[in-house]
Amino acid sequence: MLACLVASFILYNVSKTLWGTIEVFLQSAPKDFNESVFVNKAKKLQKVLDIHDLHVWSLDGEKHVMSLHVVVDNTFSFESEFDGLLDSLRLLVPTTGKYHITIQTEFLQKEPEADKC
Ligand SMILES: [Zn+2]
Repeated sequence: MLACLVASFILYNVSKTLWGTIEVFLQSAPKDFNESVFVNKAKKLQKVLDIHDLHVWSLDGEKHVMSLHVVVDNTFSFESEFDGLLDSLRLLVPTTGKYHITIQTEFLQKEPEADKC
């Protein structure tokens, strides 16, 4: 009876660890990252009009990669405001793990065809 309990405990922990490893291989998003919450908060940042093509995946469960397109209004200045935008986005991701964030900034286009990127 005790052996069955020990075996069950070991099996449970092995399956939990195995699933975590499979998630890393599948490049799934970090467990504590909530995409809709992130996007909603990011859209409220100053001069940010839209967020799209957001991709988040974990490299090893602790280091995460994020790439996204940020549509900014036409008064946005790369020289003086880009670092602030990046810092603001870093504050919106969970504090567990480390995020490497790549941003493609885009200005709002007037032609409907130019919305596609
Ligand atoms: Zn885009």
